[in-house]
Amino acid sequence: MINYPSSKLPDISTTIFTVMSGLATEYQAINLSQGFPDFNCPEELIELVTKYMREGHNQYAPMPGVPRLRQKVSQKTERVYGYLPDPEREVTITSGATEALFAAIAAIVKPGDEVVVLEPCYDAYIPAIRLAGGIPVFVPLIVPDFHVDWNLVKKCICSRTRAIIINTPHNPTGAVMTRQDMETLSAIIETTDIIIISDEVYEHMVYDEQLHSSVLLHPSLRERSIVISSFGKTYHTTGWKIGYAIAPPALTTELRKMHQFLTFSTVTPMQMALADYLDEETHYQNLPAFYQAKRDLFCELLEPSRFQVLPSSGTYFQLLKYDAISNEHDLDFAKRLTQEIGVASIPVSVFYHDKTDNRFLRFCFAKSEDTLREAAERLVKL
Ligand code: PMP
Ligand code: GLN
Repeated sequence: MINYPSSKLPDISTTIFTVMSGLATEYQAINLSQGFPDFNCPEELIELVTKYMREGHNQYAPMPGVPRLRQKVSQKTERVYGYLPDPEREVTITSGATEALFAAIAAIVKPGDEVVVLEPCYDAYIPAIRLAGGIPVFVPLIVPDFHVDWNLVKKCICSRTRAIIINTPHNPTGAVMTRQDMETLSAIIETTDIIIISDEVYEHMVYDEQLHSSVLLHPSLRERSIVISSFGKTYHTTGWKIGYAIAPPALTTELRKMHQFLTFSTVTPMQMALADYLDEETHYQNLPAFYQAKRDLFCELLEPSRFQVLPSSGTYFQLLKYDAISNEHDLDFAKRLTQEIGVASIPVSVFYHDKTDNRFLRFCFAKSEDTLREAAERLVKL
């Protein structure tokens, strides 16, 4: 009889995205749970990938990423945020933002270090912190608009605080941080050695004429930040799993030590194709209007419903409060909606360490108009 090792993450089960997408398939429900578009990526990208595969670019890419893609990421960063990172020493291409997050946390968090996390938070952060021996320190965002109470953050910071993870635009709530938030953050950590891990995968999905407050816009923040983004979100290619991290050379050196043994390098022909396509500025410039129209349509269609629509200023997620319909636990309600009315969503309690249940469900509106109409029609009947 083998004594298998005890679990390193005994309380962690299969992610909610897998669970809800699985349930959606089982019940043939409209899947507004896991965040991915139900439309295709630009045709030109597909042609470019095909071209590079045919030309034989099918072997390992360089460990930090295809040089031309790193250069293009750098140039695009300068165009958008006015800061030109050194592609050699500050830009690393990773297998999705997920890998970048894991590598960043593994690189900087040592056993006993505290990491401030704002809740609700994306589910990949906490397991990575714990596997590194770190201690997550949870600070709740303030309901219903999920803004940061910086006084709460300040109270949690001590000599053991190694890092703070921020995420704007924010999954699952759609909240966005402002310039003022960044200035306050900067003032709070100015005299510390705290590193910021800034998850900005939804950087091009900010609505209502607001601007994305990247930490890259702030010299005092970017010198202590690892900024993470994802081509999956911006180019409708979540299945390609390509992202990147921008960080000062000293942090990039450590991040790459993790990256080289997590995956070594990232899928080559896709990197080559994206390098060409990053010059298409209109693609990402048009994204806010493209997704805002979807958000507005979805919310308008839900007006006759008994759901309460919460503000969503960014991402492709919309929170709906359902306490006028049911007082079931959000996980039970999400499952029942999938099984009985055929619309899958994500219960927000899973993004809290103590499973706080505010009766919110998260719906992904990165879907075709027909899909949104059909889903809304079913939700309005409740
Ligand atoms: N961070 C956030 C906030 C996300 O929503 C996602 C979603 N996919 C990721 C990171 C991971 O991105 P990727 O698919 O590129 O690994
Ligand atoms: N980021 C996506 C979401 O929030 C899911 C990614 C995943 O399935 N791991 O829905």
